[in-house]
Amino acid sequence: MDFKEKVVIVTGSSRGIGKEIALSFAKAGASVVVSGRTADTLSPVIDALDAIGAKSLAVAADVAKVDDAQNLIKKTIEEFGQIDVLVNNAGITRDNLLLRLSEEDWDAVLDTNLKGAFNCIKACTKPMMKKRMGAIINISSVVGVMGNAGQVNYAASKAGMIGMTKSVAKELASRNIRVNAIAPGFIETDMTDNLAEKAKEELINSIPLAKLGSAQDVANLVMFLSSQKAKYITGQTINVDGGMVI
Ligand code: NDP
Repeated sequence: MDFKEKVVIVTGSSRGIGKEIALSFAKAGASVVVSGRTADTLSPVIDALDAIGAKSLAVAADVAKVDDAQNLIKKTIEEFGQIDVLVNNAGITRDNLLLRLSEEDWDAVLDTNLKGAFNCIKACTKPMMKKRMGAIINISSVVGVMGNAGQVNYAASKAGMIGMTKSVAKELASRNIRVNAIAPGFIETDMTDNLAEKAKEELINSIPLAKLGSAQDVANLVMFLSSQKAKYITGQTINVDGGMVI
């Protein structure tokens, strides 16, 4: 897939799935804007993008903060003059059973995962509408589709992203802006690293393809949905989960 002359923003790209998405777009010729809460975690990613020969920009932004999200879009326009693809990937977990789940942990997860995506979508809509073209990819989760004990806040945020995807897809379709969501299953990253071995084993047993997914597996679908090969696809949520949700 060719993304030459395209400008892509990936939130939460200091590591994990977001970093892999950023590198994949760079390899396909895109100019890539990487983002995370602090500048220092982004500099190794910029080094990796430089090594590929990609044009890149790092913007520190906490997506939960409206001003930061607006600044991310502003800096992108100043540097590259356009936004073709926005990938809302930034996300956190603060797991606990409902009765022990604090208001603070509810707010933190909803603010980052759901409001963060809303903030970035809202900020990039005007430049995309002006160009009458754009693709927005929201990284949801299978947990948003099927729920999970101990992840009430995370499941609500990820299900919210799916509802938001469908609604924004309907609002922006007439401007040729496509909006889709991806629901990854169990992907090997820092987020899943701290799971106990026994819990990992049980999870793998529930996956028909009997293995964990990689960040690259998710990045491949992000690229496809952002490309012209997916020009007739909008408002959808596609699982990358080894068959976990069938
Ligand atoms: P990681 O924890 O490895 O990375 C999370 C990224 O999000 C980091 O780059 C982090 O950057 C960034 N981030 C966190 N909070 C904020 C914030 N407030 N503002 C901006 N950036 C932020 O997670 P993964 O790579 O595993 O997950 C990426 C996405 O995929 C998440 O949305 C996650 O929910 C989703 N997902 C992951 C699955 C998995 O199995 N790994 C399964 C299903 C979905 P920094 O800390 O530098 O700010």
